[in-house]
Amino acid sequence: MQKTFNISLFLFFIISTISCKYGENCKTDNLPVFNEDSAFYYIEKQVSFGSRIPNTPAQDSCADFLQNKLLEFDANVIIQNTNVKRFDGEILNISNIIAEFYPEKERRILLFAHWDSRYFADLETDFEKKEKPILGANDGASGVAVLLEIARIISVQEPEVGIDIIFFDGEDQGQPLYMNIYDEKAWCLGVQYWGQNPHKENYDALYGIGLDMVGTPNATFSREDNSRFFNNPLVKKTWQIAVNLGYEEYFIEDLSKPILHDHVFVSQMTGIRSILIIDNNRNKAIPYFDNWHTHNDNLENIDKNTLKVVGQTLITLIYCQK
Ligand SMILES: [Zn+2]
Repeated sequence: MQKTFNISLFLFFIISTISCKYGENCKTDNLPVFNEDSAFYYIEKQVSFGSRIPNTPAQDSCADFLQNKLLEFDANVIIQNTNVKRFDGEILNISNIIAEFYPEKERRILLFAHWDSRYFADLETDFEKKEKPILGANDGASGVAVLLEIARIISVQEPEVGIDIIFFDGEDQGQPLYMNIYDEKAWCLGVQYWGQNPHKENYDALYGIGLDMVGTPNATFSREDNSRFFNNPLVKKTWQIAVNLGYEEYFIEDLSKPILHDHVFVSQMTGIRSILIIDNNRNKAIPYFDNWHTHNDNLENIDKNTLKVVGQTLITLIYCQK
């Protein structure tokens, strides 16, 4: 009997540890509620400036909006302005917008998204349409919007850990797909600058999470290969939290091929092991959402439910982090 008791106790301990590791033990009843209407408004606002392309007035207006919002949420805001070369040699003025929340806290989480939109509609068939920049309501603005809503919540209710949010510029200005050349360094220009010039000396965080394309109806977030390479325990933990919240149709079991995105540079250049939450499906002809890199990537194709799913998952992760 004594032996059985000990085994039960042992099993209980193991199960508790696993639960804790994957976030099940965190009490989710009193967590802040992510407001999807607010996130949708932040997409609407970004899109209202037009395409956020470097060297355009829309970029300046959107940068002002993002900076002012973060200041309103009591963040310590740092703007990194620099010039980088596009793949064709054109000089782009870009700005990384960095917000520190509770900078005195040593244990920190880094969250990031790209705030530029693509200058070129690769997947339009009509050449005239191809040459015009896209609005990027989903590709760009949705990730930023979810993080802005998280920033608002963090400013109201203090988490145990400090949070840094970075809006990277120049992620989506790589060569057009039809050129059939692939230069990895032509993408993610803002994060590459930040990786060499961190906003703080010896900057470190427990881990990083990037968001992109988190606003289409019925999005599926499969477990992306680079994320699993850099931080598989965090992938498992995040996806388990989502499943516990009832979001298993969005955060799916499927694995997907590696994606070159800001999280790769963050992981490689700073050692902050980072993952990416992105709508992707390797079984489709176009690996992302249906309107990817077209002019239909607009407000009409954004679904508040998806914003909620991603936002509430991250809120749970943040407020359960000790
Ligand atoms: Zn993107």
